Amino acid sequence: MNICVVGSGYVGLVTGAVFADLGNDVVCVDNDRAKIDCLRAGQMPIYEPGLEEMVTRNVGDGRLAFGTDLAAAVRQSDVIFIAVGTPSKDSGETDLSQVEAVAAGIGRAMDRYKVVVNKSTVPVGTGELVREVIARQQPRPVEFDVVSNPEFLREGSAIEDTLRPDRIVIGAPTQQVAMTLVELYAPLERPMIITDLPSAEVIKYASNAFLAAKISFINAIANICEAAGADVSQVMKGMGLDPRIGAQFLQAGLGYGGSCFPKDVDSLIHTAARLGYDFKLLRSVVEINRARAAHLVEMMRKALGPLDDKTVAVLGLAFKPNTDDMREARSLEVIRLLHGAGAAIRAYDPVANGNARRLLPDTVVFGESAYEAARGADAIALVTEWNEFRFLNLERLRGLMRRPVIFDGRNLYEPERMRRLGFEYYSIGRKPVLPA
Ligand code: NAD
Repeated sequence: MNICVVGSGYVGLVTGAVFADLGNDVVCVDNDRAKIDCLRAGQMPIYEPGLEEMVTRNVGDGRLAFGTDLAAAVRQSDVIFIAVGTPSKDSGETDLSQVEAVAAGIGRAMDRYKVVVNKSTVPVGTGELVREVIARQQPRPVEFDVVSNPEFLREGSAIEDTLRPDRIVIGAPTQQVAMTLVELYAPLERPMIITDLPSAEVIKYASNAFLAAKISFINAIANICEAAGADVSQVMKGMGLDPRIGAQFLQAGLGYGGSCFPKDVDSLIHTAARLGYDFKLLRSVVEINRARAAHLVEMMRKALGPLDDKTVAVLGLAFKPNTDDMREARSLEVIRLLHGAGAAIRAYDPVANGNARRLLPDTVVFGESAYEAARGADAIALVTEWNEFRFLNLERLRGLMRRPVIFDGRNLYEPERMRRLGFEYYSIGRKPVLPA
């Protein structure tokens, strides 16, 4: 199949690479010339395990190309995927300007029947909007169909998720149109849900909002555990073994961040309000999540006293492990609060140091390793649970610090082990290990 993917970010680039790997001819388009130049030079604009190897192989085999010319790409394609950004406005409403701009461009270039597939996360009703924009922009009427095919990949395991998705959701106007996508995805041999377009759009938001609610739920339980002297890890295990509940997304910590959950939850609240329903449950999910960073910093203030004469080493900056993505990262909020309290901040992330430098105050001093960041610190705040931090030489770390105190925002370590190693250790929803 001849495929065009518009938007070569996390979703577009990975989708394009995988479709090419399945034997299709794919052109990935982006209006960011620097990004396309970078890709043409064989460099990946994002960090994603396995991506570079897959892109290089498919470019080499002539199945994958990159360009900035949307019109040319549309003309040579049978199926066009829209995978541009859908950020939220201050009101929580989804900003659809990128999707609309691409739809207009597709409409202007459309010379024969095409299937236009919306892969961006968009509020229910957007498929209809895309249809209207394309029809309005066509120089002469040409038949086309719009399909919703929401994406569920996770950054950090995007290739694996795209090759082996839990489900493929196809929201199409007719069975016949749906078959185009069924054929495309058939080699993956994964479960497919074929439905109408609005339902597909709702499935994506409902899924992300549900996962966000699970995270806020366990964080609220963690607050209760802290007040009552219970252990949220044990509570989570006891809950998670119930197959109706499941253990995933039940890790208490600093809450969710990233480019999807915060904006998708806000968007669903906004859509619900527009449709006349006050989604109070989700508003609480957001509120609980918002309080998590302040909760950790308050823990630090209680244990350390005033922070204005303290140096804190922040370990982990990316919004989650295995990505360099800093969008809505919890570290930004933790650092903002620490900075506001006058603390000196040292920081380290295995891959996001570069992106973080651009977003954080000049006063943050970056280390090239966890050890370097921890040198002379009064405390460590562990914010992102990179695997690398699991295997740190904690004795060495302790020896480098002015005071061996760890505030573990992700419950990465076992309290008993930290006691044995001589740390003062505070984590989420578990009893602290106080100084001997
Ligand atoms: P991204 O910001 O990484 O990539 C979007 C790309 O679109 C950028 O490279 C941008 O330059 C390009 N673009 C914007 N306007 C354009 C235009 N007019 N023409 C051509 N290119 C244009 O975003 P992303 O993380 O890949 O997300 C894309 C969509 O997928 C969003 O709706 C997001 O919510 C959804 N999604 C993201 C993830 C994720 O983990 N990142 C997972 C599932 C769904």
